[in-house]
Amino acid sequence: MSGSDPLATAGPPPEHEVKALLREAGVAVPRGATAASAEGVAAAAGGLTPPLVLKAFGPGLVHKSDSGAVRLALAGPAEAAGAAAEMLGGLLAQGITPDGFLVEEQADPGVELIVGVVRDPGFGPVLLAGLGGVWTEALRDTAVRVCPVSEADARRMLASLRGSRLLRGYRGRPAADMDALVKLLLTIGGAGGLWERLELGEFELNPVIATGRGAVAVDARYIPG
Ligand code: ADP
Ligand code: MG
Repeated sequence: MSGSDPLATAGPPPEHEVKALLREAGVAVPRGATAASAEGVAAAAGGLTPPLVLKAFGPGLVHKSDSGAVRLALAGPAEAAGAAAEMLGGLLAQGITPDGFLVEEQADPGVELIVGVVRDPGFGPVLLAGLGGVWTEALRDTAVRVCPVSEADARRMLASLRGSRLLRGYRGRPAADMDALVKLLLTIGGAGGLWERLELGEFELNPVIATGRGAVAVDARYIPG
């Protein structure tokens, strides 16, 4: 693999590099741009369609929300720049110096899922799918299958979730785009999927936001083994 392969680096690659790799593999991710400083955020945001999301990245920023390193619903470049200055102040006060900022388009609301590859000591790489975002810890509603998973496996994983009702549409909300979710699961954990490139690492998309039209990975992390 080339030296620029983010999965070949020693430390965890930043979110935008993992997302670039996902996009290349065919997983939908938000359009975004990075800036090395808070001052650069306005220019980086210039080509993006609001509402915007701002995130900081760098060492010590694993669970970004816990450190105040995620801001949603920003109206445009000026607001994103203001949020970056504020965010920087808050991070420095916690002893965190970010490497930079990611500004990206905000995905439409939908059902939030977690999709990941974890390494089981006995079975090896295992695909995990479940209800994600804020619900991951609270519900512990996940399905796992040894990689590579088939299309039928992927459909069964989603159907087996206790929260699968959310995916089928409820209280007037549209059903999630199951074909897009199945395609995403196969891109990650199917034959020839990204799991084959993970060496000893683990991979987590949390959340993937599924709407009636598509499924977008709005957070992505690779943890080298
Ligand atoms: P954390 O490191 O805290 O997990 P995330 O990148 O997952 O940070 O962002 C926290 C939450 O913000 C997500 O669970 C999701 O609900 C929301 N979010 C993040 N990025 C986007 C985006 N581009 N579009 C819509 N919602 C987003
Ligand atoms: Mg997340």
